[in-house]
This record gives sequence, structure tokens and C-alpha cells, in this order.
Amino acid sequence: MKVYNTQSKRKEEFVPLVPGKVSMYVCGPTVYNFIHIGNARPMIVFDTVRRYMEHKGYEVNYVSNFTDVDDKIIAKANEEGVTAQEISERYIAECKKDMADMNVKPATTHPLATQEIDGMIEMISTLIEKGYAYNVNGTVYFRTRKFDEYGKLSHKNLEDLRSGNRSLLVTGEDQKEDPLDFVLWKPKKEGEPYWKSPWSDGRPGWHIECSVMAKKYLGEEIDIHAGGEDLIFPHHENEIAQSECCNNKIFAKYWLHNGFLNIDNRKMSKSLGNFFTVREIGEKYDLQVLRFFMLSAHYRSPLNFSAELMESSKNALERIRNAVSNLGYMTERAVDKEMTPSEQAEMANVKGFEAKFDEAMDDDFNTADAVAAVFELVKYANSSVHTDNTKVFVNAVRDEIIRLCDILGIIAEVKEELLDEEIEKLIEERQEARKAKNFARADEIRQELLEKGITLLDTREGVKWKRA
Ligand code: AMP
Ligand code: ZN
Repeated sequence: MKVYNTQSKRKEEFVPLVPGKVSMYVCGPTVYNFIHIGNARPMIVFDTVRRYMEHKGYEVNYVSNFTDVDDKIIAKANEEGVTAQEISERYIAECKKDMADMNVKPATTHPLATQEIDGMIEMISTLIEKGYAYNVNGTVYFRTRKFDEYGKLSHKNLEDLRSGNRSLLVTGEDQKEDPLDFVLWKPKKEGEPYWKSPWSDGRPGWHIECSVMAKKYLGEEIDIHAGGEDLIFPHHENEIAQSECCNNKIFAKYWLHNGFLNIDNRKMSKSLGNFFTVREIGEKYDLQVLRFFMLSAHYRSPLNFSAELMESSKNALERIRNAVSNLGYMTERAVDKEMTPSEQAEMANVKGFEAKFDEAMDDDFNTADAVAAVFELVKYANSSVHTDNTKVFVNAVRDEIIRLCDILGIIAEVKEELLDEEIEKLIEERQEARKAKNFARADEIRQELLEKGITLLDTREGVKWKRA
């Protein structure tokens, strides 16, 4: 399996630190509002990376944080007159709902920055002791000049940045030794949440959070660190500086970054105001359509969001689901015998689609080609599988489509659910049957509903029903 490493700027063979295991850290959202579909892109693509690794037999320890202390959270709390904690808790819960609807698996651990302050104070203390950080009036900065490898991830020209940033020095920050030095700890301002520390009552900088949470939940050396490409500099560069200077180990072996989700070819972002929340899209589409749309492009390419592309994703997903559902009907009528020798030979073709799928995913998670392999299998199923095949064969083809889709987190098998009106109508029909003393029909309807997961309760106020 090859993965593109931002640090080396090339595809490298993936070799985990511990055979059979993968440790993976993905920077999560700052929780001050509903997530937008740009934020959903890293969630979906790295969840797919995780699922593929699991398909390959790796045990994946997947850690993704929530940044629950931040200027924007505090601003939102002040706006609403509630605590910052209330805001972050609310939007973490909402984010988890969106993740579930996009079929993004919960991480092995979802740490919260505010729960890890002790670890941050410890790491900052170590950095000060080693001469990598310094305290000026309660603010602690990282001394970037002391880390020779600073800039190795982003390949930035540091001297250009230094001269560029010199003019950008904001008031209060001119106490830094160097324009590229960044904050590890800052004193509180009036009305802000704070924690006690040896330097001031205050709160951590953003970058230190991830270094500490990765170390605590995954160890000092990890296999994969991932996030959106806007995080390469300064966030990930700074994480490397903190972690490697503190631990004397290479922090992450592979750095993976997703491209932006754009709208009208501009980055979708909250600050530009050109965004859709996942919740809004969920009102118009099954969020599986959004997932399908995200996976139709390579994760490193920019992806432009449009109604047309969502419509074509919707149709494409429907084509897969229809094939699965047709195969389901076909199994009912197919031949109930052992697989024939010619079908056994056909199975090699079916497995050939899986090989194509794996080949695409092995090439830096080329989901677009993997989806194309699924479509070839769907086409094969639509044209070459018939009711005169055996049930086992039809089922095997059906299972294969479902399984490949599941690796991508796409749900291909839709359990048919009765609509509320259909249930009400059947209940009415059952009442009529009972009135007409046609108890056989009434029982038949009860049974039919039961098979679809609907239980009827005959109460004094009439018939009530509930889903299993
Ligand atoms: P934030 O809450 O801004 O820290 O973002 C959380 C994650 O979403 C980070 O990995 C960002 O890089 C990513 N992200 C934000 N906006 C976009 C976008 N328009 N396209 C792709 N990824 C994004
Ligand atoms: Zn991070």
C-alpha cells in the first residue's frame, strides 16, 4: 500500500511502526457551530482510510480531538450569555450526530482539549527545561530557531516568512524573540475560561493540544497524522517542533492532507460565509449522497461543490442500491442448489473486481477508481446475473457489492421501511377486516406488519403501533 507523504512529497510504501497495527491522529474541528461540509471532508476521507486499513487486516487506533477551548467558542458563549463549556458540549453532540449520519465511525478516542490541560503543562515545562521554550510575562513561546528541522513538513522558506511576519507582529506579540515563535500558553483575559499554571492563570495555545493528545492516546511515535491541507503550516509544523523537541523521537511517520472543498472555486469556510452545514445538506439529501460525492474525487484534489455533482452522486448511489435490491429479489426466485462449476469459475471474475478495487485503494486511496471498480461489478451484476443462477451465486455477487461499498462507508443495502401512511392504511384495513369478522385477514395484516418490524398494540384508545 502506497501513501502520499506531505513531508517527503512523494508516495511511500506504508510500513507501520508495529506490524499489524496502525496509530492515526486526525485533527478535529473547533466546536462553536454546526460543522460545514468542508469540515466533513477530512472526516469522511480519513474514516475511509481507516476502514480500508481495517479491511487490510490492520488494527487501527484512531484518535480525533475536539478543540473545545478557543477564541471563537468564547465569543459565541459571550454572544449567547452562556458558558464556553455549554457551547462546546452542544456542538460536540451535534457534530457526533452529523458524523453518524455520514456513516463516519466514532474514533477509538475523541479527546477534549480542556480535559488534557495537565499533560499540556507538563509538555510545556519540559520544553522550557530543555531550552525550547521561554516565558515572557506569563506567555510561553516556542523558540523556533532552536529546532534545526523547523519547516521540514511545509518546505517553507523560513527567512521569507520571518521577514514577512516581522511586519505582521501584532501588539503584545513583539515580546517574541523571533517572528516565527508561537504561543504554547497565554494568560487569560477578563471573562475567559482559565487554568492555573506555573506561568500564569490562562489557557494553552492550539498547537500544543494535539501534540499532547497524540502522545497520551497513541504514544510518542505515530504512524499517520492527518488533517486538511490548511493545517500543514503552521499547525502541523508546530506540532512536529513541540513533539520532537520534547520526546526526541520522530513524531509521525506519514503526514496525510486532504484538499479543500471549494464552492465557486473558492475555499468553503466560515469566515468567508460561503458554506453549507452538513445539517442543511441533510435536509435535502441522504447524507450518504454527500459521502459518495466526497469519495468521487481523490482526497488530495480540490473538489468543487455543486448541485449538479450532488445530483449525479445521488443517481450513481441509486444505481448501486437498485442493483443490490434487484439481486435481493432475484435470490428469492433463483435456483436452490449448490453453486455450479461454471458459477464457481465466474466467481474468479467477481473477485477480479475486488482486486481492482484494492489496487486503486493501495495507490494512495484512489477512491474515484475504487468507485469505478464497484460500478464495473454493478454492471456485471445487471447484465450477467439471472434467476436461473443459483441462490448462493446471486447472493455472493450481492454480498460483494455490499462489502466493497462498506469499505468506503457507503451503505448499499437499504432495508425497506414502511412509511407511516402505509402502516396507518394497513391498520385501517385490519380494523375493517375485524369488523367484517374476517379474522384471518386481520391476523395476516398483523403478521405482515410484524415481519417489517411493526408491533401493534390494541389499547382502549384504539390501535397503536411502534417500530421494533
Ligand atoms: P477547523 O474547525 O477550521 O479547525 O477545521 C477542522 C478540519 O476541517 C481541519 O482538518 C480543516 O483543515 C478542515 N477543513 C476546514 N475547511 C475545509 C474545506 N473547505 N475543505 C476541506 N477541509 C476543510
Ligand atoms: Zn491538530
